Amino acid sequence: MTAKLELRNVTKAYGKTTVIKNLSLLVEEGEFFVILGPSGTGKSTLLKLIVGIEQPTSGQVLIDGKDVTAMPPNRRNLAMVFQNYALYPNMNVFNNIAFPLKMHHSGNITQKVREVAEKLNISEILGKRVNQISGGQQQRVALARAMVRNPAMFLLDEPLSNLDARVRFSARSELKRLQQDLKQTFVFVTHDQKEAEALGDRVAVLNQGQFQQIAPYKELYEEPATAWVGDFVGDFPMNFVDGKGFRPEWANIGSGPYSIIIDSSESFGDIYYVFGRTESGEHIVLKSPKLLSIGSQLKFSVTRFKEFRDTPQSTVGNV
Ligand code: ADP
Repeated sequence: MTAKLELRNVTKAYGKTTVIKNLSLLVEEGEFFVILGPSGTGKSTLLKLIVGIEQPTSGQVLIDGKDVTAMPPNRRNLAMVFQNYALYPNMNVFNNIAFPLKMHHSGNITQKVREVAEKLNISEILGKRVNQISGGQQQRVALARAMVRNPAMFLLDEPLSNLDARVRFSARSELKRLQQDLKQTFVFVTHDQKEAEALGDRVAVLNQGQFQQIAPYKELYEEPATAWVGDFVGDFPMNFVDGKGFRPEWANIGSGPYSIIIDSSESFGDIYYVFGRTESGEHIVLKSPKLLSIGSQLKFSVTRFKEFRDTPQSTVGNV
């Protein structure tokens, strides 16, 4: 089967700065594909290359097997959904959705708008102004407007980051459900791991213009390909002793060959995360069923290690 989107050895340089470095990628039809990385790693640049706002310095972009590298954005038939949704606040929902059709002098506008509104369950609010509807409904309107011209694929640039925490949570699960219902291909860019975990069929971890790993989120966590991924993915950076990595779940506390002095702990539901340092100064996070006192020594063993060829480096503060 032809891939929906393919990048072949794509490089993008601005003057002497190479922002995207020889990236290759296949996204399948109907996939929810997430590009995850800290700020400044090239996520937006990559989207611009796919949309066609920017041209690669070398390499090719293919959509449905067709080389679109030299094709202008308006001929690529892609739908972008932006961070702020870019809706027209004073227009009603119907006119927001109809806008791209009017721009392209399409026929059957009313029927097309009604069809997408039905699919997205917003038929009831077509007459409302955008500033009178909820954040979740705005998301649906933005998607409806993107869908109305039957795009080959949806590209979403951090579309949830402007929502407040609670709405964001429901908007996220709603977005996942919508994508599953629509069976359309979504390429979603974010710096937020929770979004990547909740949404992505696969997640590509981008660091300084290079993919470190492309895999389902669980695999990134369990089997990080590099120490950098181990460090970046997860609620906490991967632990390291003797240059080998392990997750808190892979350790047993109480006895064993390793020990930390406890610096602090935090409760998460019915367990505690215990933070401490080994004798040689490595920062370690462990899990404990009960509260342990600060300053005390905690021994532990590790049931499984992950070894890497690269060396760990902290990404904290880089996100
Ligand atoms: P992200 O979306 O991951 O935050 P960007 O793609 O916006 O990252 O930027 C990646 C890097 O490319 C940054 O260092 C940025 O300064 C640089 N960059 C982006 N656009 C340009 C440009 N037009 N000219 C020069 N440098 C740019």
